[in-house]
Amino acid sequence: MSEPQPLRIFDQDQLAACVQCGFCLSSCPTYEVTHLEEHGPRGRILAMRLADEGELPLTHPDLAASLTTCVQCRACEAVCPSLVEFGSLMETARTELGERTPPRGLRGIAHAVGFRVLTRRAAVRIASVGLALLQLLRFDRVLPGRFRPARRVRLGDALRPYRLPGSGRAAVRTAPAGAARGDAFVFLGCVMDGMFRDVHQATIDVLAAVGYRPRLEPAPPCCGALSIHSGREEEAHRLARATIRAYAGTSGPIVVDSAGCGAAMKEYGDWFGTPEARSFSARVVDLSEVVRPDEVAARGRPVPLTLAYQAPCHLRNVQGLADQVRALVAAIPGLTLLEPDDEQRCCGSGGIYSMEQPDFGDAMLASKHAALQRTGADGVVSGNPGCAMQIARTGWQVHHPAQLLARSLRP
Ligand code: SF4
Ligand code: SF4
Repeated sequence: MSEPQPLRIFDQDQLAACVQCGFCLSSCPTYEVTHLEEHGPRGRILAMRLADEGELPLTHPDLAASLTTCVQCRACEAVCPSLVEFGSLMETARTELGERTPPRGLRGIAHAVGFRVLTRRAAVRIASVGLALLQLLRFDRVLPGRFRPARRVRLGDALRPYRLPGSGRAAVRTAPAGAARGDAFVFLGCVMDGMFRDVHQATIDVLAAVGYRPRLEPAPPCCGALSIHSGREEEAHRLARATIRAYAGTSGPIVVDSAGCGAAMKEYGDWFGTPEARSFSARVVDLSEVVRPDEVAARGRPVPLTLAYQAPCHLRNVQGLADQVRALVAAIPGLTLLEPDDEQRCCGSGGIYSMEQPDFGDAMLASKHAALQRTGADGVVSGNPGCAMQIARTGWQVHHPAQLLARSLRP
């Protein structure tokens, strides 16, 4: 058998920056499940080093298992005193693994079909209408629990066009004139446009309520976040370039109401290093960056709910906006916001991770469910489609911050 060759694909400075201190271990949700070094960030960086230096092939079963069980929550990155850019190292590892050992058999077919659908808005929409019908007729129960989205997609939401304010028509492509704060572009995306149209509608209504002119076009089909996390770098970069191109010639904030998509789009500048990509990323914002708590507190109507706040990992660890969103939601009159004692811990969703690594995903979800129960809350606030669907599997009603804000601010 031939000796493995040094890979030299990882950023050497980043690999060297890890001093193996282990400070990140307690933040890692997969390490929490097994307490095995290979399921923690330090062991994973060691696996990358071994492959990079040619000690073991990256495809060695132990190395591959260590790397593919990472949920890519980036909690380790947020606490690392050496500022190791773990997310970028892991994306390099997953891309290389994806190229060397592409998914085969049924999993290969599921990947090929799934990502083909996700990159086409019309296909996602048709699939969502089909899912809404299945759920309406209760036929979705024939699917195994793991593949059955807990979120109920209402047929009315799936079929209804977006309503922009100031128009008598059901769906409009032009925005009402005279909005004081100018245009704000709502990024529609793929899964969000198919299954979370009610959230997009809430975002539109909130933007209009605080003086923006919500715009729905241009509407590139997908940001590429799911692709990059699944080791499909070429596809992710193609989608990212198309997204940047689509917004060329426009100005104003690009509002992203999915934390995972927003995190990826804010990193396009780092992906490509071009002035166009950097200026695009600078325009990408979460709703909490364009709506102030004081205007919600002053103008909002009461929303009498007691909810637990669960910040999506990519909002907390990549965008650094967990506290900002918490402050915005807490400003809604009448709303009581409670904090789970493991709020910084991943729920185990991770895009398609919960389907690919069901044992880890289920263990993380069980731990999250217990923490949410300890708060005594009636429901959960979380702003990411994957987290919303994962947490809903344990019976929680999950509210998106935009929905709560819209409920308070809608005329
Ligand atoms: S990733 Fe950072 S925190 Fe974790 S072991 Fe390396 S240096 Fe320490
Ligand atoms: S990204 Fe998350 S799951 Fe992966 S090593 Fe870091 S903390 Fe653990």
